[in-house]
Amino acid sequence: MASERKFSRILTELDSRRSRHLYRHTRVADSPQQPHMTIDGKPMLVFCSNDYLGLANHPDMIRAFQQAANTYGVGSGAAHLVNGHSRPHQQLEEALAEFTGRERALLFSTGYMANLGVANALLASRHDVVYADRLNHASLVDAGLLAGAKLVRYPHNDTSSLGKRLKETPPNLPLSGEGQEGSAARTRLIMTDGVFSMDGDVAPVRELARLAREHDAWLMVDDAHGIGVLGETGAGLLEAEGLNQMDVPILMGTLGKALGTAGAFVAGSHDLIEYLIQTARTWIYTTAQPPAVAAATLASLHLVQTESWRREHLQVLIRQFRQGAEQLGLPLMASDTPIQPILVGSSEQAMAMSSRLEKSGILVTAIRPPTVPADTARLRVTLSAAHTVEDVERLLEALGRNPS
Ligand code: PMP
Repeated sequence: MASERKFSRILTELDSRRSRHLYRHTRVADSPQQPHMTIDGKPMLVFCSNDYLGLANHPDMIRAFQQAANTYGVGSGAAHLVNGHSRPHQQLEEALAEFTGRERALLFSTGYMANLGVANALLASRHDVVYADRLNHASLVDAGLLAGAKLVRYPHNDTSSLGKRLKETPPNLPLSGEGQEGSAARTRLIMTDGVFSMDGDVAPVRELARLAREHDAWLMVDDAHGIGVLGETGAGLLEAEGLNQMDVPILMGTLGKALGTAGAFVAGSHDLIEYLIQTARTWIYTTAQPPAVAAATLASLHLVQTESWRREHLQVLIRQFRQGAEQLGLPLMASDTPIQPILVGSSEQAMAMSSRLEKSGILVTAIRPPTVPADTARLRVTLSAAHTVEDVERLLEALGRNPS
């Protein structure tokens, strides 16, 4: 029967994934997001969360969330353009613009949707071009693919190769057809992770900004893993590199990582944000995040800016982990951020290493293709300001007992 064929196809695919050690499953947590959690009923010391500053369970944020729920209820009820845009959303957009040194900011319900929305809004035809780093996050890859533009992927952080590709696709498009003269403008958009999510290294944003300006291309930096963590006040990689709105016209940041809540924002010029409000379909046609999430994020933004000790402690832990892991001879990657992957290679080995750690009460998930390129499966260790030096010692001891 046709319907049975339909099911047998997906079962074959599931079997194939199992046999290649690529099968994924969720775990159930019965505690808040913090280093010591109860997961699948067992106590676990967790080194795989993106809650880099340890804010997801902060009492100030819980209080702000509860107060806003009392005032505004739970659901936002509608999209921002209908009547779902409440005072906490407005205040958060203004605070995020000020925090990032941009004229305006626009809230999206998730980072994935923010990336899709920007690319879709800016790119109008198959003649437009997206230039994407090979190691960009899946949401940026999908943003390029779904926008219907030409997708050009350049080797990781290779700005000279990007420069060549920009020259090969000039900004002007010859007009075809009789009697037409001149050329039409083609939109070109360079998209990159700020901090690469699976490697932990950073994009050469100064050089990217120079290339974008030289070639009149848009530059969008997805700083999901830099916001809160990098820069003097935690405003991210662009603050650390001293780049402003003129250098990087489109900044995307997420709220579900260092800021400890959920959702995302795009920050940029007044005109860019007005344009997104009119055209970004993943913003227009979706329900606004609950107002209480925006209120809790306002509280976390305050903590991010005033409690710089969190970033300082994180730096201490990063140094401690790297020194210890180097002594153990573990293959680390070139990262100075809280993302400290241990490169394993085969998915089978990465799974075995992760499950050995799990048996000793430590959770570090194995990251496998297609999230990372073939033969580069890894344990993605992430550090948080909520970890103690003793927590990191425990991880190093366990890694020492269970080498790859
Ligand atoms: N960009 C990057 C670089 C990410 O790592 C992620 C999340 N893992 C996203 C975008 C998507 O953000 P969200 O989880 O808010 O959809």
